Amino acid sequence: METNNFDRNHLWHPYTSTTNPIPVYEVERAEGVYIHLKNGKRLIDGMSSWWAAIHGYNHPILNKAAEDQLSKMSHIMFGGLTHRPAIELGEKLLTLVPRELQKIFYCDSGSVAVEVALKMAIQYWSAQGKNKKTNFVTIRSGYHGDTWNAMSVCDPVTGMHTIFGESLPHRYFVPSPNCRFHDEWDENCIKPLKECIETHHEEIAALILEPIVQGAGGMKFYHPQYLREAKKLCDQYGLLLIFDEIATGFGRTGKLFACEHANVTPDIMCIGKALTGGYLTMAAVLTTDHVADTISTGEPGVFMHGPTFMGNPLACAISLSSINLLLKSDWETHVKNIETQLRHELSPAKKFPQVEDVRVLGAIGVIEMKEAVNMAKIQQQFVEQGIWIRPFGKLVYTMPPYIIKQAQLSQLTTALLNVVSQQ
Ligand SMILES: *Cc1c(COP(=O)(O)O)cnc(C)c1O
Repeated sequence: METNNFDRNHLWHPYTSTTNPIPVYEVERAEGVYIHLKNGKRLIDGMSSWWAAIHGYNHPILNKAAEDQLSKMSHIMFGGLTHRPAIELGEKLLTLVPRELQKIFYCDSGSVAVEVALKMAIQYWSAQGKNKKTNFVTIRSGYHGDTWNAMSVCDPVTGMHTIFGESLPHRYFVPSPNCRFHDEWDENCIKPLKECIETHHEEIAALILEPIVQGAGGMKFYHPQYLREAKKLCDQYGLLLIFDEIATGFGRTGKLFACEHANVTPDIMCIGKALTGGYLTMAAVLTTDHVADTISTGEPGVFMHGPTFMGNPLACAISLSSINLLLKSDWETHVKNIETQLRHELSPAKKFPQVEDVRVLGAIGVIEMKEAVNMAKIQQQFVEQGIWIRPFGKLVYTMPPYIIKQAQLSQLTTALLNVVSQQ
């Protein structure tokens, strides 16, 4: 392991110690499903750079979109100005999302999108004089990002609540839905949410959750009926419903957006990650005319957010190109095939004594271990086996680029099982 000294001494990596960092591998380039390390090793990518690089790396069509836009302008402020990439991306997005979502707010990253969504909910109620509706309810095992209020609605145990303690606002948490995606619906599943909303609805602005797939907070897949019941409760008690589709959007779960599994339209929806095909950071918050117009008619008559890099033309142009590429590909079949193959090839791990559970939905495969893995050790083993997998805690999981070929995915799952069996 040759770790770069400057990196070792000066660069902070995600969720990493500076005094005792686990090794990082230097990447020279990446192409398609392959990550080429500086040491000459080639890895099959099992992570899509955290859900984002759905078309693989260094894609000629996305590169061209970036180059074409660069020759016009990389960035221009969105205050008082607009441009084709923002307009065309918006037009395209509206053809994909639930019909009621008609207003689009572009922002910088997933976490910021969540902040924006929460702010929209507060402004929606305050515009109607409902100044007590300032809190949020969510389900346990969620992950919504690392900024302050996004953090406050992450799982309070696996999240960062103990570290940040009283500095974090207190949210209402109900148990994560225990009715799994493929189980039969059990109506007891919704009871905790119902009780919480019944008791506290006067203080709650919105319910926020990740539809169907809970990502970084636990990699759990829950029953679509939960979303239909949640929607009913929100309507009945006057809560906005916020879907965080930042991880699930753009086909990952087998539907373009996970809310389609339940046919439920939220009042506010966050998208990000795969939006730019993994090229740049950008996210968007979509909402209904009703929510947007209510905010706009109340005091101060505007929505109070406006990031410097809002609507970045380069990111918009690449996003549009990425979406077109996705729609032109037979993504549904690709994701379905990945799902079938993952289900088949990961299932032997169910019998391993160190494995608690194996589950697959869309192009997401999860092996839940009985004990948390040793990150430094397991990461090195994956690299030795020629694959890139980044586990956390007890969760060893993969969400490969949709372009992965059958033989490449087999190589990935074989190596994955190999390493898991050695823990
Ligand atoms: C990754 C993620 C976020 C945060 O997005 P960033 O771009 O990392 O800020 C929020 N919600 C969900 C569901 C995510 O998976």
